[in-house]
Amino acid sequence: MEKIIVLASGNAHKLKELKRILKGFTILSLKDIGFTDEIVEDGTTFEENALIKARAVHNACGYTVIADDSGICVDYLNGAPGVYSARFSGQNATDKSNNEKLLKLLNGVENRRAEFVSAAAAVFSDGTQIVVRGVVEGSVATEYRGSAGFGYDPLFICDENQKTYAQMSEDEKNSLSHRKRAFEKLNVILQEKMKDK
Ligand code: IMP
Repeated sequence: MEKIIVLASGNAHKLKELKRILKGFTILSLKDIGFTDEIVEDGTTFEENALIKARAVHNACGYTVIADDSGICVDYLNGAPGVYSARFSGQNATDKSNNEKLLKLLNGVENRRAEFVSAAAAVFSDGTQIVVRGVVEGSVATEYRGSAGFGYDPLFICDENQKTYAQMSEDEKNSLSHRKRAFEKLNVILQEKMKDK
């Protein structure tokens, strides 16, 4: 039987990335199921927001739904921007204005430790739920490095290879990213929970 999972995201890159990780499932997008409602992400943690998204879509379609919520947490800023990463520099924030704000706040600061976090949630067709977390440790660069990717990619240096996300190929980033780590954990749970479906 076909094992269907809906991804509660309109992001085509995430869909592509997830299709590679979650083997044996048919992954549908919000577009595929005709979901157009706006979801208010008013949680205060990545886990809360991922569950809010997955639950809202599950309530509308009844399928097993997965969602993620991600962001960068900077030690010197007490974990900010965290869940507010997308709108760090205000309502009309762009990747550029967010990065500029981060560089400004860390100007001359020695402690540049940061982590990228992703919470991946699933609400199963029976209504039960689970949420897991993937983390990549690193630091904030003092200037832009690399041109690939999006968001904070040119400023986030991974401890593991001392490259920014923006200096990595798509495949390299996808092999070690915070999202990959979260969804690999979720994959193990999904495979077990849906093995008899
Ligand atoms: P989302 O929860 O995946 O939509 O991510 C929220 C915000 O976190 C994005 O708008 C970006 O600013 C930032 N972000 C999340 N993942 C990444 C990433 O892989 N690279 C750079 N920025 C990211």
